Amino acid sequence: MVISRSLRDPRRYFEEIASDRSAEAEGSPVCLYLEITNRCNLLCETCPRTFETLEPPADMDWELFTRIVDQVPNISRAVLHGVGEPMLVEALPRMVRYLKDRGTYVLFNTNGTLMQPKRFKELIDTGLDELRVSLDAADRASYLKVRGKDFFDRIVRDVGKFIAYQKGVGATSPRVSLWLTGMKETVEQLPAFVQLSAAMGVGEVHLQRLVFDEGGYGMARAGLSLFESTQADEVAAIEAA
Ligand code: SF4
Repeated sequence: MVISRSLRDPRRYFEEIASDRSAEAEGSPVCLYLEITNRCNLLCETCPRTFETLEPPADMDWELFTRIVDQVPNISRAVLHGVGEPMLVEALPRMVRYLKDRGTYVLFNTNGTLMQPKRFKELIDTGLDELRVSLDAADRASYLKVRGKDFFDRIVRDVGKFIAYQKGVGATSPRVSLWLTGMKETVEQLPAFVQLSAAMGVGEVHLQRLVFDEGGYGMARAGLSLFESTQADEVAAIEAA
């Protein structure tokens, strides 16, 4: 698929390119998304998993993982998360190394609850390129409201320790970033979120859009989304951040 014309509204690219898509993909895939587990230790209000059991809890086994990866040996980029916490998977370091040995850029999102110091060295040694930590709040009370469990202090402490460890051993990867889902409930915390990130030593912050379906669930609802309804005070918070 080639997108040659300019888009009328880049925010709605997904609607505009619909007619350009053929039934059969013409090029080779460049990016692989693998949901290596659907298990999780949080109960986020923004997650479908919290409200509905879609499939029995399971991790992707090594045989299935390699069978998929071996079909695309030249894949450029691999993302090892779906709906579930990748750091719960025992084979995660081996999976990252398997992809890195093929020259693939590897990243995953984590909820940051399992960043114990005993895992720091291994995490770096895998060659992982990017580690995205979904924190979603700048304080403990908001975190609890959005993420469903009281893990804020632990994550801030352990991710901060990981950054310090990385600096101590002179490691430049994985590149660590903090993520906040944009919602009316929390967007005003964005400037404080940036300050928290700096205090933890994390040099990169992302504001991520809230994903929800038509019916909505928990806090994943159109009424809490910023998309196409951002108010002046919310824009001000984003600009201040
Ligand atoms: S950490 Fe991720 S997978 Fe787990 S409940 Fe939250 S959004 Fe869902």
